Amino acid sequence: MAEIKKRILVVDDDEVIRDLAVDVLSEEYEMMQACDGQDGWEKAQDWRPDLVITDLMMPRMHGYELCRLLRSPEGLSGVKIIVASSKPYAADKAQAIAAGADEYIVKPFSIGEIQDKVRKILSSAPAAGPQPPPAPEGPPVTNRSSSLPSPVKSEVPLPVSVRFWGTRGSCPTGGLKNVRYGGNTLCTEIRIGDIPVIIDCGTGLRELGVELAAEFPGRPIAGHIFVGHTHWDHIQGFPFFTPLYNPRNTFTVYSVRGARSSLHRIFSDSMALDYFPVPLSNLASKLSFVELEGPVDIGAAKVSFQHLNHPGVCIGFRVEAQGKVITYISDHEGFAKLGGDSEMARRQDAAIVNFARGSDLLIMEAQYTEQEYASRKGWGHGTYDDAVKFAGASGVSRMAIFHHDPSHTDDMMDANIKYCRELLVRDGVKTECFAAWDGLRIKL
Ligand SMILES: [Zn+2]
Ligand SMILES: [Zn+2]
Repeated sequence: MAEIKKRILVVDDDEVIRDLAVDVLSEEYEMMQACDGQDGWEKAQDWRPDLVITDLMMPRMHGYELCRLLRSPEGLSGVKIIVASSKPYAADKAQAIAAGADEYIVKPFSIGEIQDKVRKILSSAPAAGPQPPPAPEGPPVTNRSSSLPSPVKSEVPLPVSVRFWGTRGSCPTGGLKNVRYGGNTLCTEIRIGDIPVIIDCGTGLRELGVELAAEFPGRPIAGHIFVGHTHWDHIQGFPFFTPLYNPRNTFTVYSVRGARSSLHRIFSDSMALDYFPVPLSNLASKLSFVELEGPVDIGAAKVSFQHLNHPGVCIGFRVEAQGKVITYISDHEGFAKLGGDSEMARRQDAAIVNFARGSDLLIMEAQYTEQEYASRKGWGHGTYDDAVKFAGASGVSRMAIFHHDPSHTDDMMDANIKYCRELLVRDGVKTECFAAWDGLRIKL
């Protein structure tokens, strides 16, 4: 009697990686492919594989969420899961295992490595059955982007400007040596007519709130807040944003789902009594949270996202508004820079360059000099050289450097930007390059 082959579902948005896995495993196993987490979840329910090999950073649904669903009561009892990601960060491995993965391997993997892992895992005892459902996540204010109300389009093009309210990375940085560039953590406002589109909620958000309250006396504010990821330097200003306390105002917060819980839950937990006196549920404004699965149309602008290389879930944004394009890439370490040169790393780096291609303004992180980077490899950030190379490859008109390292004083920042401009001249790149500073306003 012919032996029944075990089934393996390969979930990855990189077709080359899927084909490679199928190539090397199809002799021994029955194989199926899925092009992202959502596709993987649907195929897993229909086809009932014995093993799922999944990437982490994929459009529509990331791999953490797929692991969690596979291990949920609606998931597949006894299914084995290998997470195969190009992210070598310890935080991602720990989160993948916590989400239900049995194994974590770093791509690009060798043929022998994947065959060994698959054989070993499929011959081990079945995984524990479905895990108990996770704790309730608070009020159901989380919408998927597909359920957004249809936006109202304006006929006349609206003026677009960008204002930086916080440009410091990692940690607020005061002191007399940092007065020109400023010390607030990341917060950028893209103003489209009367509509504030805010990216990241670092401590700079507090001052933006004061300014908006003065600008809209007695008038409601309807704002959109995009969050690249939820490390402290990107959310700490949120509870100090006073327009959130006014019942006239409406705000929508957008990001992808967290690795461990919903976007709403992350914000709610960050304002738990241990950290802040007012809980999220007491904010008087109309506040909703949207977990992005793809581009979102907010009427005055279309915003798309791209996963970046940083510990945990982290995305960059491309905002297309009134004929202008602004790309925001913060907290990113080049794939080849971190993992070494490979065909896969080059493809991943190229995807991010393409995401920014042709921007009128690229807002780009650069935290280190090459010398500093040598001892900070794997921290999820890039260098001035990386930013300059990126500007040349993506053909952007202007590049604002930000996410300044807390140790970089005003004088050091002057030197760093001078260095960037010299590199651009050396490489014959026409991009206008400057450092963003707290308070800088740019008309587009
Ligand atoms: Zn950061
Ligand atoms: Zn970060």
